[in-house]
Amino acid sequence: MQNFLQYYIKLREKYGKLLEGRHGIDSLSRDLLIAWLVTGFLNGFIRSGIVTLAALLLPIVSLLRIFSKNDVRRGIENRKYLSARKKTADFFKLSARKFKERKTHKYYECSNCSAVIRVKREKGEHTVVCPKCGKELHVKIR
Ligand SMILES: [Zn+2]
Repeated sequence: MQNFLQYYIKLREKYGKLLEGRHGIDSLSRDLLIAWLVTGFLNGFIRSGIVTLAALLLPIVSLLRIFSKNDVRRGIENRKYLSARKKTADFFKLSARKFKERKTHKYYECSNCSAVIRVKREKGEHTVVCPKCGKELHVKIR
């Protein structure tokens, strides 16, 4: 037990020294490594040049990012990636919700601020106030 603990502490020190002054692992690097595992797996089934190329390049790009000394640039890349990932996730969440509530609600986009407005599906003309900017919208549900 004592030996294992000493070994673990030594390993942690070595790991710390290895990444000293380096960017380290962030969401983008981690997801690139996950994508590498997926493309590596797919490469066994799909004979495609793009999949093979991705399986070769993804770990290289990820490792270059992890050991990069340009922390500012890698941080900007990671923030852009996280923003794009959130936008994509939000799009799919909203699409799933629209589909689930397609018989009870209608969704509109505010012409002023592009906020998504959910309106109960009741026949007739309605005046809806955007919760974000306060603009009144006239909607017609048939
Ligand atoms: Zn609005």
